[in-house]
Amino acid sequence: MHAVGKKVRAFVRVKPSAHFAQDVIKFGADNKSIDIHIQKDAKKGVVNNKQTEWSFRLDGVLHHASQDLAYQTVAEELVSAALAGCNGTIMCYGQTGAGKTYTMMGATADYRHRGIIPRAIQQVLRTVARSVDALVTVRISYLEIYNETLTDLLAAPNGGGAGEVQMAVVDCPQGVCVRGLSVHSVSDEEEALNLLFEARRSKVIAEHTLNKNSSRSHCIFTIYIESRFSVCSDVRCVHSKINLIDLAGSERLSKTGSAGQVLREAAYINRSLAFLEQSVIALADPKREHVPFRQSKLTHVLKDSLGGKCNTVLVANICGEALHVEETLSSLRFATRMRWITVEPVLKVTCDPESTVKALKKEISLLKQELAMHDSLANRSLVNYDSLTDDQIAEIKSQIHKYLQGAIDEIDIMNFRQVQEVFKQFKQVVREQECEVEARLRSKYVLIDKNDFVTVAAAQKVGAVDVDHHLLREQDLGTRPTPASPRPDEKKRSVMSSEQSKKEGPRRLSSGRDLGACLPSTSQASILTSDLDVRKSTKSDDAANVDAQPSKAAPVEDPQRPSSPPSKAVAFEQFKEESGSVINRIFKENKSILLARRKRSSAVTRRINSIKQELEEIRKALESQKQERMHQGEYVDEDGHLIVEEKEFLLIMKLKDLKEEYRCGYAELQDLKAEIQYCQRLVDRCRNKLISEFEIWYSESFLIPTHVRNALQPGGSIRPGMVPINRVLCLEEDEQDSFERMQEVVLPCGPDSASFYKAKMKTEQKHTYSRAMSSLKRMRKKPEHVTAAGKGKA
Ligand code: ADP
Ligand code: MG
Repeated sequence: MHAVGKKVRAFVRVKPSAHFAQDVIKFGADNKSIDIHIQKDAKKGVVNNKQTEWSFRLDGVLHHASQDLAYQTVAEELVSAALAGCNGTIMCYGQTGAGKTYTMMGATADYRHRGIIPRAIQQVLRTVARSVDALVTVRISYLEIYNETLTDLLAAPNGGGAGEVQMAVVDCPQGVCVRGLSVHSVSDEEEALNLLFEARRSKVIAEHTLNKNSSRSHCIFTIYIESRFSVCSDVRCVHSKINLIDLAGSERLSKTGSAGQVLREAAYINRSLAFLEQSVIALADPKREHVPFRQSKLTHVLKDSLGGKCNTVLVANICGEALHVEETLSSLRFATRMRWITVEPVLKVTCDPESTVKALKKEISLLKQELAMHDSLANRSLVNYDSLTDDQIAEIKSQIHKYLQGAIDEIDIMNFRQVQEVFKQFKQVVREQECEVEARLRSKYVLIDKNDFVTVAAAQKVGAVDVDHHLLREQDLGTRPTPASPRPDEKKRSVMSSEQSKKEGPRRLSSGRDLGACLPSTSQASILTSDLDVRKSTKSDDAANVDAQPSKAAPVEDPQRPSSPPSKAVAFEQFKEESGSVINRIFKENKSILLARRKRSSAVTRRINSIKQELEEIRKALESQKQERMHQGEYVDEDGHLIVEEKEFLLIMKLKDLKEEYRCGYAELQDLKAEIQYCQRLVDRCRNKLISEFEIWYSESFLIPTHVRNALQPGGSIRPGMVPINRVLCLEEDEQDSFERMQEVVLPCGPDSASFYKAKMKTEQKHTYSRAMSSLKRMRKKPEHVTAAGKGKA
């Protein structure tokens, strides 16, 4: 079926007639085309100026074709595809009496004349009976749509009308289905045919001029096929269905002479067929997104059975007489349109979890049996494969502890479950140890989040950590910070480290990084203020929050200031990179020169000392030589010069050289000392400069509000040098400093009070800030007065 093409297939079946209009209907030699020719002088209402020739191309013409051939041509392949999992639909379309019911259902009197439905039932159920791999269930339903009313033709006779009222076409995830329609499971052909033949034919059959037995309703017979098969232990399920549709007559009303009730029926039927045609046109147009399936019950029911993923075949039933040529033309047009619809049949395979579980259980019991057999053959009858008991787990646990302690070298392994339990227990031990280590660290140290600058700064003040957080790193342990000093019992350690840092302070200043560490300390800060006569600015968060712009010296060009000033340690690193880079470079250069001089100096000192030692030794040796000479008696030459032995002579020469060397070394050392002193002064000055520049930069960048900074800038309302910055901000006391001092005293005794004091400090800072702001406002109004006052104060 798929191979034939991607379109709906359409066939024409001509009802045998003694009056077949040979000159009107002509078949092509390939049996796939049909030409209609109407003579211009035809009596039956054909107007002369109308078209008289039509040519239709189809997938096959069934003329004088047996039911057998009709089935083979139209249905066999489609049914096979449905058995493999693709949905299929066969529709018979045509005027009343053209042979739709004959094609679909056939004549019940003669077996040879049976139609597509009984033959499809036969094909499906015979195939199912022969299949060995899959478990197939076949079910059937029979629906009639008459005047937009749904009727279940297979409903039990005593079911009454209640069931029919409830029936409705509904869209569900699996596709369209008819609620309330009975679906009957059939195990063999006979059972299915019985249901079909005994179907409650409550179809309304109207008296009709064309054919007394013609149906005025649409009948849809559906065969549902569900195949289950196993892929390893997975149970897969393939669902498919075959819709076999006998449509109501397509003839136009005028011709049949219907009246009253029949006319109304015909109107309904024609309307649903018109909607069917509209849906077909929409389906055939690839640009159309919407197909008006829901306009009628018929099209709604056929929503997932026309084109799309469904193999679709149309049989256009026509009459061969010239009298019906217009209906024939209409049916052929419909058939041609159907052929434009694209189809892409797909297999619908789903998983059946319930059946899969069943299959897996079965497989497990089978494998257990197999295992038991293997064990008995291998004499391993004691092995148990069931889940471990609590006692067994406890035994494994104890073995692991013994193994970790080194009491045993091996852990008994009996089966796979045990191996898994051993690993599980090891994991637990690792977890427990992690917790233990963390708890131990916590009991010894205060853990601080590296990114919590405020806490880090506070910790730096009390000497708990250095800039690089060397004492403890929070991120290593994944914990939140504890902004508190060490516990009372750890006070000694904390005090010691704080003292150490103070002691090491000046020495550690020799490294650039350590300089940063010393920055926020109170002692360091006091040196700065005395040097520069600029007091430390307030660290008020609120002051920093004011929509201030960074000054020219500000480190970042980003117009947005951070909501709270960074810690000084962090800011200092930034300052060294940016505004303070030149002075920092000079500072470093000077420091390296100083370091080199010191090294040289100590090397020279060492050398002098060793010379000194050597001199002593030579002196001693000479002394003993002299003693020996005196003892043996002295020799003199003719000129009265004392004659000494060669050994003594060499010693004297060496002594002379060493003395000279000592003198040079000593002179060099003196020079070096002077140089070192000079360099040390340079370094100190550089350091002070660096720190004071940083303090100014920090205040300007993070603490002074924008309008104050603007006022201080050239051309601003305050002339430079007139008012010191601290006066501008009206800062009487540095709260941050006092808080930090207080923290040092109070916090070690009561770490829980940290948040209380923090909050207190923030409130005080706010007050200070608003005081500063209001005085600034006053200052703006009367600049001379306030400037004078500021001057007076300064
Ligand atoms: P429809 O269902 O289209 O109204 P039917 O199938 O009831 O028409 O056909 C009307 C009559 O014509 C029936 O008596 C049927 O047996 C007969 N008939 C239709 N097609 C054929 C055919 N191909 N061979 C023999 N008889 C046919
Ligand atoms: Mg019929």
